[in-house]
Amino acid sequence: MRHLLGYLQDFLGLFFPELCAACGRNLFKNEEVICTECIYHLPLTNHHLDQDNQVARQLWGRIAFTNAGSFMYFRKGNKVQKLMYQLKYNNRPEVGTRLGKLYASELRCSGSWALPDAILPVPLHPRKRKKRGYNQSEYIAAGLSEILGIPVISDKLCRAENTESQTRKARWARYENLKEAFVVKEAGALEEKHLLLVDDVITTGATLEACSAELLKLRGVRVSIAALAFAG
Ligand SMILES: [Zn+2]
Repeated sequence: MRHLLGYLQDFLGLFFPELCAACGRNLFKNEEVICTECIYHLPLTNHHLDQDNQVARQLWGRIAFTNAGSFMYFRKGNKVQKLMYQLKYNNRPEVGTRLGKLYASELRCSGSWALPDAILPVPLHPRKRKKRGYNQSEYIAAGLSEILGIPVISDKLCRAENTESQTRKARWARYENLKEAFVVKEAGALEEKHLLLVDDVITTGATLEACSAELLKLRGVRVSIAALAFAG
């Protein structure tokens, strides 16, 4: 049966080849979502090898995190920007899972990152989620979870109310705006845990700051931050 499916896949591939989400060329059968060459050239930050990394420095004094970092650099016009576009606006959530798996393989080899007890995707506002059809951070979390063998908890941290568009506001105005935007349901499910908060791109860090503020109110909770890309 497996052989048959393989043949069928190859046959369909003649007409509907799967394309690399970063460069658009046809994928080989052993490649998954992103081609080998694009993976090789991803601009990795290696933040997990350096406690004093750029993300950590940006969040110091704002979040009492245990570890913080991102997987790649986001730059205008680079492959990461393309991948984030596919993930967020072009209905390719599998890009998140693929990158989550790649990130997890790096994290697993890091001696300095203590692995968390659970992975929490940053929640999307329900209206935004409905429009997009999925929460991209849940797919990233699923990829991390698969490789690290750590469970995902996606229904305990929620968006509380509608927040207006963030794009034209200064950082502090944004933070004020987001301050009440997250709530914890069933604190008991999160207490005494080391939680890894997962997001797609870190820009100002305001969203992560607001989420962490809620989580750190819980008894015995430690928070670490992992994003796919850093745009700072
Ligand atoms: Zn490619």
